[in-house]
Amino acid sequence: MENRYDIIIIGAGSTGVPLAYFLAREGVKVLVIEKEKSPGQGSNKAAIGGIRATHSNPAKIVVGLKSIEIFKNWEMETGDNIEWYQGGYSFVTYRKSDEESLRELVRFQKNYGLNIDFLNRNELLEKIPSLNPYGLRGGTYSPEDGSASPLLAVNSFYRHAVQYGATFLFDAEVTGFIKTRHRIIEVKTTKGNFRGDIFVNAAGAHASQIASMAGLSIPVNPDSHEAGVTEPVKRFFDPMIVDIRPQKGSKNFYFYQHKT
Ligand SMILES: Cc1cc2nc3c(=O)[nH]c(=O)nc-3n(C[C@H](O)[C@H](O)[C@H](O)COP(=O)(O)OP(=O)(O)OC[C@H]3O[C@@H](n4cnc5c(N)ncnc54)[C@H](O)[C@@H]3O)c2cc1C
Repeated sequence: MENRYDIIIIGAGSTGVPLAYFLAREGVKVLVIEKEKSPGQGSNKAAIGGIRATHSNPAKIVVGLKSIEIFKNWEMETGDNIEWYQGGYSFVTYRKSDEESLRELVRFQKNYGLNIDFLNRNELLEKIPSLNPYGLRGGTYSPEDGSASPLLAVNSFYRHAVQYGATFLFDAEVTGFIKTRHRIIEVKTTKGNFRGDIFVNAAGAHASQIASMAGLSIPVNPDSHEAGVTEPVKRFFDPMIVDIRPQKGSKNFYFYQHKT
């Protein structure tokens, strides 16, 4: 294989694979280096697949809106079914203080183009009749958020990235960089060294380790996050529901029913 690329991406996960797809589609010569044997084997395969623009950070709202557009149109554009389902998101609240912060946040989110409203208790129960009504104060409802299968999505992005000419090197761990005084010129891996003009650190939870190999310190501190899967249950609610009541050992819980 060649050893010089325009852009080298470290990590074939939720970030690295779609990035490779969009770069390759623009004609950029791109290499993705991944320590596992196939794409999406890091956090990507643990995710439950919620795709939302409902965030409090403006940059995340803008990126989320763009992501929804991409996932919504993906099947039409590529023919691949990634189980996109536009069921919306709802942050429900059972405490006065949370209600006040959510109402404030909704005003802010609307300024960034998010289709979101705060629904009072009865309006919300009309949308999601299966919610626990006791003490419910209402919640946000953003109908354009949705979900897709992270496994189907990453593999679809991967196949199309390859079709556009992206190169993927699996089972190859990044171990360091070669630098001139001002910039990185080469990445070292367990399968050899590769030269690039630009290097993208898409190593997810391992991003700070990769950064430290380049002499940089970045504040990426992985946190534990767990999902439980039940036996199949007939659909009884549509939106992804986020319950922000903190409990011992957890900041919040969220629930959704997969399309299949
Ligand atoms: C239980 C759970 C549920 C979640 N649910 C959602 C959800 O509903 N919606 C949502 O948006 N997010 C969700 N997330 C978060 C989401 O999974 C992550 O934010 C996302 O996958 C991170 O993508 P990434 O590309 O940064 O990292 P990853 O997908 O982890 O990709 C990083 C890749 O880098 C590779 N790598 C690391 N070090 C090296 C090295 N030295 N050399 C070569 N390769 C290397 C790894 O093997 C990995 O494949 C969830 C996470 C968990 C754990």
